[in-house]
Amino acid sequence: MQGNLYIVSAPSGAGKTSLLKALLERDHDLKLSVSHTTRSPRPGEEDGVHYHFVSQDEFMRLAGEGGFLEQARVFDNYYGTSQSAVQSLLEAGRDVVLEIDWQGARQVRKAFPEAISIFIMPPSVDALRERLGSRGQDDEAVIERRMRDARSELSHYAEYDYLVVNDDFQLALDELQCIVRAERLKLVRSAERHAGALQEMLN
Ligand code: GDP
Ligand code: ADP
Ligand code: 5GP
Repeated sequence: MQGNLYIVSAPSGAGKTSLLKALLERDHDLKLSVSHTTRSPRPGEEDGVHYHFVSQDEFMRLAGEGGFLEQARVFDNYYGTSQSAVQSLLEAGRDVVLEIDWQGARQVRKAFPEAISIFIMPPSVDALRERLGSRGQDDEAVIERRMRDARSELSHYAEYDYLVVNDDFQLALDELQCIVRAERLKLVRSAERHAGALQEMLN
């Protein structure tokens, strides 16, 4: 049985990376797709773990070979999701999460109309600025750029299936976990998983 595909988007600093890290620790059936990016690694970011860090030439080569399920330019850098990595995880029955921007989300919905999309929003503009600052990994110009782009990312919230506000971290995490669980219990998927028992009881 093919796994579920989740798309998670949010303005930078809304907390999607922290929330997904915590969600993956709670749910071992969920796998995060590691994107390719041309941006430089932040302190502590590891190649192959947080991103596959590639040069612009390498990115364009991969794109030219049709290696990306989706790709987008975000904050002057290129980001893309590996087609083969996602496909093989889904075919192995794993649930996969893509942490991508709204442009990528649109492309993925075209290729996978059954993908489940979740938008995470910060509780306020002030909270967003505070979080971008407290993360301490981007300089002031980068933070200002991300604050400006937050409005554009936020303006696409209505294209998503679910909306989660990340005010209280634990509450937002619980809500994300509820979405993943409820999607697994949807009739078509649950009935397939329990086909043997259903057949036995109906015979
Ligand atoms: P990204 O730009 O999309 O990758 O955003 P991040 O996921 O990296 O997170 C933004 C900020 O939120 C960082 O400065 C974190 O330190 C901060 N943060 C995350 N979780 C918590 C939390 O539970 N409490 C507090 N106080 N700060 C948090
Ligand atoms: P994103 O991946 O969306 O850019 P991050 O997960 O890196 O966001 O979070 C940005 C910062 O905000 C981090 O320093 C993170 O620890 C902090 N943060 C995340 N969620 C919350 C929250 N609910 N309350 C306060 N701070 C948060
Ligand atoms: P960051 O540099 O803070 O990790 O990510 C910046 C933005 O790029 C975020 O909005 C994030 O969702 C987006 N992003 C990360 N990986 C991908 C990807 O593979 N494809 C697309 N389209 N966007 C991505």
